[in-house]
Amino acid sequence: MGRYKGIIEFIRELHGGKEFVPLHEPRFLGNEKKYVNECIDSTFVSSVGKFVDRFEEETVKFTKAKYAVATVNGTAALHMALLLAGVTRNDEVITQPLTFIATCNAISYIGAHPVFVDVDKETLGLSPEKLEDFLNRETELANGECLNKRTGRKIKAVVPMHTFGNPLRIEEIAKICQHYGLKLVEDSAESLGSFVGNRHTGTFGTLGVLSFNGNKTITTGGGGMILTDDESLARKAKHLTTTAKIPHSWEYEHDMIGYNYRLPNINSALGCAQMEVLPEHLKRKRKLADDYKDYFKDKPPFFIEETNGCTSNYWLNAIILKDINERNVFLKQTNEKGIMTRPIWKLMSHLEMFKNAQKGNLDNSLWLEERVVNIPSSYRDC
Ligand SMILES: *Cc1c(COP(=O)(O)O)cnc(C)c1O
Repeated sequence: MGRYKGIIEFIRELHGGKEFVPLHEPRFLGNEKKYVNECIDSTFVSSVGKFVDRFEEETVKFTKAKYAVATVNGTAALHMALLLAGVTRNDEVITQPLTFIATCNAISYIGAHPVFVDVDKETLGLSPEKLEDFLNRETELANGECLNKRTGRKIKAVVPMHTFGNPLRIEEIAKICQHYGLKLVEDSAESLGSFVGNRHTGTFGTLGVLSFNGNKTITTGGGGMILTDDESLARKAKHLTTTAKIPHSWEYEHDMIGYNYRLPNINSALGCAQMEVLPEHLKRKRKLADDYKDYFKDKPPFFIEETNGCTSNYWLNAIILKDINERNVFLKQTNEKGIMTRPIWKLMSHLEMFKNAQKGNLDNSLWLEERVVNIPSSYRDC
């Protein structure tokens, strides 16, 4: 009994001795109330206002993407990014089975089909070797398009995901996509503040997306962002997310079926304030991760660290337990003691909706599914 007593005590102490330690909670260190109040005073709380533009500009400045378009949430951003990448009904999109459901939901909204390719054990993100192997064996190029030999459908895009903010081998993935004529859409919903070299995640493909949900690194209550370097795609993104309205002083003219996916001004006000404290936020999250790293050094469970040349935002810290039994003991003991821990997601390929989806060899994903657990990851509130 109490095999994990030491770890439980350590985590509690790291979080100021609190009786209940949540997995992740937002932190408001700066001008959040000020800007939200300003927004309310202006009466422009909804679909137009200066905070939306400012939030987009701040995101451009931080990520160095050329363009950023704010959306109501990260799932909507993904949905739009896939449409903009040219994905249509009955196309296929390659993604990793180890991801949050939103990735596959967005693919499904279009009537497209996810195809699952394995992740790397070290990064928890899409594996370049497994991707190349799958494309080699299962597809052929026909008129510059990537055809799935088994299903006869076109594969249009690849959506890798930087799990828990830990950057995957995105440069290699980008090369493979280029070779096979596939659009790269990065699900960087979890990786604001994560870099490969000096380049921000979400800027390696045609499009990338961010999320500002309440449990993410910074939050707008709910919100998302589409990133791209392509001016025409950015313009289309804005158009699609704002009911496809042709700008005019009074006429209602819409030129296609659009979406009401624009981020409200009041959420953007929160976003502007959160962007200001993002660097401080990342610094404190890194300190917490360093403390975990020291504690778990050289002994199981193993702490998942950023890989060489990459900077993780350490959004959610994660450890690897010995096997599924140990994982279950750990989850039970920690949660019973008020230390909130959660297993990594069930593989998408194990869910009812996607159980018939085509998949490659998923050995690494299956191994990780049984062992990875997230531990409390917001820095001490002081
Ligand atoms: C959070 C998240 C999203 C987007 O989520 P929203 O709650 O819609 O903002 C998408 N993909 C992944 C992997 C996520 O973790």
